[in-house]
Amino acid sequence: MNNTPSTKTVIFRATIFISLIGLSVVAIYLYQQNQSHQEKITTLLLEHDYFLLEKASTTKLLAEERELASSTIQDLANRLSLSNEELDDIERDLKREKNKNDEFEDQIKEIAGTVGVLDKLSKTDKELLQKYSRTYFLNENFIPLKLSLIPEKYHMSSGKEMYFHGDAIEFLEDMLDDAKKAGHDIRVISAFRSFEEQIAIKSQHTLVYGSGSNAFSADQGYSEHQLGTTVDITDILTGGTNTSFATTEAYAWLQKNAHKYGFILSYPEGNQFYIFEPWHWRFVGRDLANDLYNSDKTFYDLDQRELDAYLVKIFD
Ligand SMILES: [Zn+2]
Repeated sequence: MNNTPSTKTVIFRATIFISLIGLSVVAIYLYQQNQSHQEKITTLLLEHDYFLLEKASTTKLLAEERELASSTIQDLANRLSLSNEELDDIERDLKREKNKNDEFEDQIKEIAGTVGVLDKLSKTDKELLQKYSRTYFLNENFIPLKLSLIPEKYHMSSGKEMYFHGDAIEFLEDMLDDAKKAGHDIRVISAFRSFEEQIAIKSQHTLVYGSGSNAFSADQGYSEHQLGTTVDITDILTGGTNTSFATTEAYAWLQKNAHKYGFILSYPEGNQFYIFEPWHWRFVGRDLANDLYNSDKTFYDLDQRELDAYLVKIFD
């Protein structure tokens, strides 16, 4: 036995050695492979983390933006509700102003109406609805504001100018025209008479009838004829101031229709001032004449205060 290793042993040892080297190489290779995988995984993990971070930051950003947006919306909503309140306030103010204006307008209208009434009254003789008779006096200087000539065709006899109140003459003409259409030829005997004319007539009557003339002829200053709104009328057949006119159809027509033209009979049968004067008609305006007709009252039955209320509408 020698100490030299046998060939088999050498080969065996060489094989082991080579195998070890091979294994080492494989191990190193595997290790390297593993390292590379680890690196890759780490990279991937890092990338993933980064992605997550990015995502988180984006989400956060979005959340922040959303918060901002919602706070902006809230802000706008607040401002809107504020401006709605302001709008309500403005609307309320407007309404108040409008109401004030309406009230003001009403007041102006009312004032204008009152002014209109006052203006109308200032242009209307207050004497036109005054009672005149033995107990009520008319100023001797009174002359109506407007006097118009009564056309000749309405005169009972020609040759004398006759005047009637300028604002009432159309009512007189309408009445006489309509009477004629109904077959009654009613004419004017006498109309406006001045204070002086009244004196002349009175003295004539006094000469003829003495103190008895007081019963049918008003003293100067008491006569409704001085107003310009009073006429003595009769039908052409009767011809004059005669009580028999009361029995005619023409008179019956006047009794039934004169109020429609604003005329009333001043001294009806049984009045306390004069004898019954069926020819003596006074214009008092349609309103008053209608009311008297419907209530079956006479002009002198009413208080002066009641009569005055009709003055503003006398020529309506
Ligand atoms: Zn008369």
